[in-house]
Amino acid sequence: MSRTAGFAAHGPTSPLVPYEFDRRTPGARDVQIDILFCGVCHSDLHTARNEWGATVYPAIPGHEIVGLVRHVGDAVTSVKAGDVVGVGCLVDSCRTCASCREHLEQYCDGMIQTYNSPDAHTGGTTYGGYSTSIVVDEAFVLRMPATLDLAAAAPLLCAGITTYSPLRHWNVGTGSTVGIVGLGGLGHMGLKLAHAMGADTTLFTTSPSKAADATRFGADAVVISTDAQAMAAHAGRFDFIIDTVSAQHDLDTYLSMLKRDGTLCLVGAPEFPHPSPSVFNLIFRRRQIAGSLVGGIRETQEMLDFCGAHGIVCDIETIRMQDINAAYERMLKSDVKYRFVIDMASLARA
Ligand code: NAP
Ligand code: ZN
Ligand code: ZN
Repeated sequence: MSRTAGFAAHGPTSPLVPYEFDRRTPGARDVQIDILFCGVCHSDLHTARNEWGATVYPAIPGHEIVGLVRHVGDAVTSVKAGDVVGVGCLVDSCRTCASCREHLEQYCDGMIQTYNSPDAHTGGTTYGGYSTSIVVDEAFVLRMPATLDLAAAAPLLCAGITTYSPLRHWNVGTGSTVGIVGLGGLGHMGLKLAHAMGADTTLFTTSPSKAADATRFGADAVVISTDAQAMAAHAGRFDFIIDTVSAQHDLDTYLSMLKRDGTLCLVGAPEFPHPSPSVFNLIFRRRQIAGSLVGGIRETQEMLDFCGAHGIVCDIETIRMQDINAAYERMLKSDVKYRFVIDMASLARA
């Protein structure tokens, strides 16, 4: 066991505070990682505040982890001490089911999330990256491209893969017309990735002040979603729309923007359900509503390598661990440009 410093939520309405706990002693297949940076995902906030109803306290969020390998177990072959590695949303799965065999561990019924999942090693709950170190099975450790800034690459491990995976699954490429709804952590990565894949990409935002940034990230058009006239001009134009919005909202507006056989893919996971969409928007053009959860380990590595080759990173604002509660409040006001990343040097080791 090794004593580890972190920040935890102890209840849905209490702020995150310093919290010390034990990480397991690394086993033969384990990688012990000193955490350098951890991105702040809106899912961290949903979990800390029990907005999805399944939080076990104390909760230590954080699943966009970049760090240095301190130690590896005897059976580890893929990384060695001193390597720069990443850990995303998953730290284990059953490894035998159909999803695991197809490298889609995120859809495994036995999938273990980086935080707030049962931890078979400790008998408790998994604790995430708002901490100075983590121990992870080698099969769930990613290699970070050497060319990318490490702090700015950390959010690729959730925001990056959560948008990359549906773009690939729905075969987005040159000639595709793609919409991205919401310019936060996920949305700005969706824009950059869809643009890099060759798609004609449009951002829908509630924040007019973000338009110039969206263009810089690769948007061919920016539409202010509160402007009904501007929205109507885009009806029936899109093959594929990714909705990253973290709050409930009307889906019909976006369904009506799809072509025949187009897909609206929901990745945002609000506390309260969206109002049920109109059936008529679906049946007349055989449109589809879908969802997508992060991505498997193989695809996450593919995404990291794609970002390395294209020089794609997140636009970030670095914070100290102690600033996390203020960062959450800004995130709720859509005031993040475009991902907070915690510099873990701000937290003294236990
Ligand atoms: P974020 O940085 O807070 O971005 C969310 C964006 O949604 C905001 O910047 C804002 O964009 C827009 N928005 C917020 N409230 C809105 C409202 N009431 N109406 C319309 N637009 C609103 O959050 P994130 O980290 O990107 O995460 C987004 C969502 O995805 C969260 O629910 C998170 O839990 C979920 N998520 C899902 C997965 C998955 O695997 N499916 C993975 C990671 C995260 P504008 O200012 O541009 O309007
Ligand atoms: Zn996330
Ligand atoms: Zn499985």
